[in-house]
This record gives sequence, C-alpha cells and structure tokens, in this order.
Amino acid sequence: MSASTVILVLAPAELTRAFRARGLKVTPQRQLLFSLLHCNETHPTAEALFAVASKLMPGISLRTVYQTLNDLAAMGELQVVQSAGGSTRFDPNVADHHHAQCDRCGELHDVYVDDLDRLEVSNLAGFRTDRARIVFGGLCAACQSPKPTKKTTKQRS
Ligand SMILES: [Zn+2]
Ligand SMILES: [Zn+2]
Repeated sequence: MSASTVILVLAPAELTRAFRARGLKVTPQRQLLFSLLHCNETHPTAEALFAVASKLMPGISLRTVYQTLNDLAAMGELQVVQSAGGSTRFDPNVADHHHAQCDRCGELHDVYVDDLDRLEVSNLAGFRTDRARIVFGGLCAACQSPKPTKKTTKQRS
C-alpha cells in the first residue's frame, strides 16, 4: 500500500525557498538537515538527526538541529510525533497518516487508515475533534523473527 500512497514531502530546494520566504536564514547546516529529512521515513529524534548530521558536518550544534526542527514544525513542514517511549520524533511526511510502533526496538512507521470517519467512537460527545492519530503497538517484522537480525536500533532513545 505504501508504494501507491502519495507522500507530501518538500524537496530540500523547496524548503530553502519556504524558509527564505519567511525571512529565516538558510545556512549550510540547515540545508544539510533539509536533505537528511527529505524522504526520511525513520521518524528520527532530534538527537538521532544530530548524530548523523555531525558526522557529515562536524561542528553543527544540537541547538541548530532543534531550532531548525522547530521552525519546520511551525511552518507545517514537519509533523511532531510523541512516541510511546516518551521521545519526540520528527516526521517529514505531513500527509494524513498514522503510526505503528514496535514495543521492542521502538521502530515507528507510517500507516494509513481508510474511512477514519466511519470509526465508531463512544464518549466523544461535546468534544470538538481537530485531528485523530492512531498508534498501533506491537512487534515489527524484524522483532518477530526468532533469529538475530542485523537491524540496528540507533533510532531508539
Ligand atoms: Zn522491532
Ligand atoms: Zn509518520
């Protein structure tokens, strides 16, 4: 299903334009972060992104990473996802979607729910719903397999 799903992700060049249009400075550090986020489906934490970014551009600060992520989130170019483990993760996929999170390795991936309007929900009377986010919990394919895998768990925090 994911192959046919349209994912709204702005290319780094478009993010650069969107940043400039808002009078925000686009530094090489920010451009690096834009490209690291582009089509990134791992839902990284700021720290995970910082770790990758510092390898490619030593000297980049965690503060810059946070600032850039917060600016992108404020612009609606990034979704902030509170994961079950309590960490804040960032998602460049701003299409309407939901998540499945593995209890063991913390892997979080996008899932799509059709006909959300037809869900039968009780006890919601009087509440004005602006959005609904569903998180499926369980074990990912790799963690279900009994043999050891090479899958890394670097995203975990
Ligand atoms: Zn897993
Ligand atoms: Zn997502």
